[in-house]
Amino acid sequence: MIRVLRVAPDSLAEQLGILPGTELCAVNGRELDDFLDWEFLTADEDLSIEARLPGGDEIIFDIERTGVEPMGIELEPPHIRRCANRCEFCFIEGLPKGLRRSLYVRDDDYRLSFAYGNFATLSNMKGRDVARILEYRLSPLYISVHATPWEQRKLLLNNPRVPNILEQLTVLASGGIQFHCQMVIVPELNDGDVLEQSLSDLWRLGDAVLSVALVPVGVTQFSHLYTGASMDSANANRILERIEHWEERALADREDRWVYGSDELYLLAQRDLPIAEHYGDFVQIENGVGAVAALRARVHAGVSELPRLDGLRIGVVTGTSMAPLMPELLEKLSVATGAYFQLIIAENSLFGPTTTTAGLLTGADLRRVLAARGADLDFALIPAECLNDDNLFLDDESFSDLCSVISIPIFPSYDFLDVLRGVSLQANGFSSLVKVAS
Ligand code: SF4
Repeated sequence: MIRVLRVAPDSLAEQLGILPGTELCAVNGRELDDFLDWEFLTADEDLSIEARLPGGDEIIFDIERTGVEPMGIELEPPHIRRCANRCEFCFIEGLPKGLRRSLYVRDDDYRLSFAYGNFATLSNMKGRDVARILEYRLSPLYISVHATPWEQRKLLLNNPRVPNILEQLTVLASGGIQFHCQMVIVPELNDGDVLEQSLSDLWRLGDAVLSVALVPVGVTQFSHLYTGASMDSANANRILERIEHWEERALADREDRWVYGSDELYLLAQRDLPIAEHYGDFVQIENGVGAVAALRARVHAGVSELPRLDGLRIGVVTGTSMAPLMPELLEKLSVATGAYFQLIIAENSLFGPTTTTAGLLTGADLRRVLAARGADLDFALIPAECLNDDNLFLDDESFSDLCSVISIPIFPSYDFLDVLRGVSLQANGFSSLVKVAS
């Protein structure tokens, strides 16, 4: 059974009398367990929906649709499947105590992998789940592989009961399911022969494996489980060399690079990041693969359309890892607009200095670096990735609270252009700033 959260005005569901709180029990005789059942079983034109209204009345809605007119129903969020592993490198295990509860949820849910691109390990899969993936053709899935040799994977996931991932992937692949895979690389555990073996195994799955991203392990000062070595420049370089070897083979055989290193790997190796063309369709950008190249490409493509902003003084806040890459971008923006950009580097006080990503900066970090600014800047841009959908930073400070204590306007920005396009300049400074959707 699944429950209706909202009904869209003037929708088919509203016309039928479906109300928020209605329990949807079955469609065409098939019981409903979650949003996937609803999504796939209501794809038919003719539907018989068994439901229980909020008052308790049981009712069957018989629907004949022409085409597939949307029902207009938003469901209550699903119960998220929790992770049964205890990876030493788990980001959530590396969170300090006292943050909002939702941050501590360790999901490992193939349904979210299909619907939102969340990575799942498939450790908690039952036979019924496999059958659903095959029946509904949930593809592509995003899979945290980490290692294909079984014993090594048990160690990496810190879970002796993990199923054999190669067997799981083989079954799914034989049913036409494809995967984007990731491997978090832990020095001495899966960076040498295990990495080579894993890439070979994934390669042998053929077209089923669409891409593989290699991400260096990242730990915070709170990663209490982690006993491994830290990733250094030499390690990162060795991994990139292995990637180069594999991508050469993949380009020759598949005309696709297939395996990618995350941006962090290049930064650790102190190598130049590849250009945007390297990443094709940026299939693993959410995994930090090609994010910098994509930003550079967006700025390059959009900078000529920016308004003149001569004399404006704009602060740009970022984390320590992006800091060395910013001057080149800010110079480009400055030449195009005439504005003066000042880079403001913030260290992460919540996770410690080893956490360098701009998107993990907290309200307190931004407050610290912006508190003394005022006379020297007209406004500041902060990384939009720091904020969640409720406009809260990781430390629960709200964006509006931050704005109230900083004396200059602050604007969350994904790529500079999204804010700068909305700036209009008058003789006495900037007169209007409208956030433009990126
Ligand atoms: S699979 Fe590992 S890293 Fe992912 S949530 Fe579970 S314990 Fe954390």
